[in-house]
Amino acid sequence: MFGRVVHDAMSGGDPGDIPPQQPIRTRCPSCSGWTSFDPRRVITDGRSLFDREASGLLSREVLEERLATLGLVPTLWNGQPFVQGTAGLSIQLLPIVCSGCRRDLFAVASYGEFQPMRWMLAAEGVIDAMVPE
Ligand SMILES: [Zn+2]
Repeated sequence: MFGRVVHDAMSGGDPGDIPPQQPIRTRCPSCSGWTSFDPRRVITDGRSLFDREASGLLSREVLEERLATLGLVPTLWNGQPFVQGTAGLSIQLLPIVCSGCRRDLFAVASYGEFQPMRWMLAAEGVIDAMVPE
């Protein structure tokens, strides 16, 4: 799944103002079964991509590799590789568990002020949160 904009409005400057969202159904990268997540909750309860605690023990390389499976690839920003979400929004991660195989996953969504006073939230998908063997 590639990023799907689920909120695009003049409101939402505080993530708590984003209206409740339908759960996003997507395939688990581990068992390929359906799992779901609430993209609003990824923003209200999740952590920034740059928060080392957010990505657990995953190295930056592994995290970038997994984000690439969602079509999120690094671009250069001030000369540094930098992964942006849909429409250049900031990515956030929320730990979730697959309802089928119970694997630890990260739900991925992005959020930000797309234009002055225009706030967008995009559901990006889910990635595996397990540290490679
Ligand atoms: Zn699964």
